[in-house]
Amino acid sequence: MAWRLAKSLTALREEMNTVAPDRSTASDGTIGDKAHQGSPSDHNPNSAGVVCAIDFTHDPGNGADMHAFAEHLRRRPHRAVKYVIWNRRIWSKAKADEGWRSYSGSNPHTVHMHVSVGVGPDGQSTGAYDASDSWGLVDTFGGGDVIGLKRGDSGDRVKGLQGTLQYAGYDPGTVDGDYGPKTAAAVLKMRKAEGSSVSDGDNFTGWAYAQLMRALAKKY
Ligand SMILES: [Zn+2]
Repeated sequence: MAWRLAKSLTALREEMNTVAPDRSTASDGTIGDKAHQGSPSDHNPNSAGVVCAIDFTHDPGNGADMHAFAEHLRRRPHRAVKYVIWNRRIWSKAKADEGWRSYSGSNPHTVHMHVSVGVGPDGQSTGAYDASDSWGLVDTFGGGDVIGLKRGDSGDRVKGLQGTLQYAGYDPGTVDGDYGPKTAAAVLKMRKAEGSSVSDGDNFTGWAYAQLMRALAKKY
C-alpha cells in the first residue's frame, strides 16, 4: 500500500535536520516494521495512507539532544501534535495540564524520541496532521549560535527568559526585562549545572536555550 508521512512531520524532520545536520539517524523511523503492523500504532498508515508518527535518534554530541527537543515540543505545542514519548515519559496534548507522565510501554524510548500527530486512536489519526506550521526548532535552537539575547538587552524577550530561568530554579532577580548581572549570573549557573564550560552568562545562545530546556525537563 502506498503511504506518505504526515506533512507536519515532514516539516519537523526538516527543522531537526537544519538544527542538527550531522545528527545520527540510526534509530530514526517513520513507517512501522512488522512488529508495529501487528498492533495499533501511528507508525502504521491510517485509512488515508498517512503515517502520523516519527522517531528521532538521541544524539546530543551532534546537537540532537532529545531531552531539550522533547521539552521544547511540550512547551511550544504544535497545532498538529498528539503526543511525545521520551525517556520513560509521555506528554500528550489532550492531557497537557498533567505535564510529563510516566510511560511504561515495553520500549522505554531512551534511544529515540517518538512524536505522534493528529487526533484519535493510534493508527487512526484524523485532524490537523498535515498542518505544516513551524515547530519553532530553528527559531529557538539556531542554525546560528546566538538567538539574539545578550547582557545589556531589555524588553519582553528578556522577561520571558527571566521567567523561564525562575521556573527552572535559577533566580534572575526581579523579572524586569533587563539582562543585567543577576540574569547573567543565573544563566551562568544554569549552564554550568547542565555541563557547559562557559565562564560567563552574557550571551544566551541556542545552546544555552537547549540547556535551559534540559534543566526544565529534569525539574518537571
Ligand atoms: Zn515511534
